[in-house]
Amino acid sequence: MKRKVNTSIINMLPEDLIVEIVAQLVSHSSEPFVDLYNLKNTSKLFYAASKDEIVKERIALDREFPSLNWTVTDRGMSILNACAEAGNAEACFILALINIFDKEDISTGVDLLKKATCKGHTEALYLMNIVTLRFQEHHLLTAVNSDGVFGADEINFGHGDDQFELCREKVVNLIRHISWNKWQATLVGNRQQWCKNSECGTVRGWDRHRIFCSNACRWNHEYFALCREM
Ligand SMILES: [Zn+2]
Repeated sequence: MKRKVNTSIINMLPEDLIVEIVAQLVSHSSEPFVDLYNLKNTSKLFYAASKDEIVKERIALDREFPSLNWTVTDRGMSILNACAEAGNAEACFILALINIFDKEDISTGVDLLKKATCKGHTEALYLMNIVTLRFQEHHLLTAVNSDGVFGADEINFGHGDDQFELCREKVVNLIRHISWNKWQATLVGNRQQWCKNSECGTVRGWDRHRIFCSNACRWNHEYFALCREM
């Protein structure tokens, strides 16, 4: 026999606790929108909690993308905008990609990347450096270091190539999905590889990773690696 839910007990829980329960659920779920939809139909309290800014901030949008096809549906865009306004880093990152690679609005895209980067979004920092190299838009950035690289010390990319490859794979997939036709014109510029050191970027050392003579060389190499994969 199906057990009846005792809603009077749920009604005794503090609202903050219910919001936290919903936020935990949607941040860890493999299908956060399905779970949110089911949960908010169970009681008025869960329905109200599902609308809370904390839930929008923490919902795991990366588990749903690209199944919701954000770029072509009004519903997808309204979800993205609402989540970005609540401070959801993934929503800011995806909207940044749409602004940079589809709308070609670099300034808005960079502002959204900054918001995502402040929340520790690794791919947003990766893309910030790529955009800086492509457009030479240092004036749009607030924290360019002496290598001309944005905030590279703020998130540790490590000395190996793995983090770069993971970021590159995700960014390439998203750009292809968002704007298959425009990416080439937007990203590939006439930038020249500036380093004259023939050893720079070669695979060396006991761990067989690429060694660069500076952080700027590392990112310059990464810029061309990304262009090649697209
Ligand atoms: Zn170099």
